[in-house]
Amino acid sequence: MPKQFIKILLSTFLVLGSFALITTVATAESVNQLPPSDVENYLMGRFNPAKHNAFVKVPAKYANRKGYYLRKSAFEAFKKMYEAARKDGVKLIIRSATRNFDYQKRIWERKWRAQKKSRSAVNKARNILKLSSMPGSSRHHWGTEVDLNAFRNDWFDHDQGLKLFRWMNNNAAKYGFHRPYTKKDSKRPTGYNEERWHWSYTPLSIPMLRDAAMVLNDSKIRGFLGSETASQIGVVKNYILGVDESCR
Ligand SMILES: [Zn+2]
Repeated sequence: MPKQFIKILLSTFLVLGSFALITTVATAESVNQLPPSDVENYLMGRFNPAKHNAFVKVPAKYANRKGYYLRKSAFEAFKKMYEAARKDGVKLIIRSATRNFDYQKRIWERKWRAQKKSRSAVNKARNILKLSSMPGSSRHHWGTEVDLNAFRNDWFDHDQGLKLFRWMNNNAAKYGFHRPYTKKDSKRPTGYNEERWHWSYTPLSIPMLRDAAMVLNDSKIRGFLGSETASQIGVVKNYILGVDESCR
């Protein structure tokens, strides 16, 4: 084959390759026009939200403490929702927001060490996965998620909790917020148990979930105690993608 021809062939591949790259970056709009390798790092929480220019610090008045971060547009929407709720006598309190990989790793490994020694690795992981994500697979990495008021479903069954839950169910969608972890049933057969406190800003998180479905796989979920179980459990399919249809 003449060298000239090989050269032309190579440059064609290069041009096509860059087009593919540009297309991927365009679909990654949700993660702030990042190149693909950065999309993966972003979705897996491998960054510091305090140093990321798409994030803002949540003022303490909206939360139980200072120091939480959210994506700017998610927080703008939250503020509007917060004010509307306040006018209706409902006080929304952010109890958790963005958590990066290292933060999630601390939560996961603390729970891992607390598991009965006699349990198999897979059973330890499944037990933690009832409510907590493996590092690298949490929606809380994305800057789009908030946990509100109380970490117990039954808190939302009566009094203030019930009033808040009803208000959110009637109004949150107007501000772009939906609940990914609804009751587990035939419509949502896999994933975490119900979390009435967890809400997602879907104008950002739906495209991010699509990116996650393309970019992530179980073998990438690693770097913490018990990560070898991710593939057996099918974390990407059963947990990351195991969300309510309002969040897909
Ligand atoms: Zn949550």
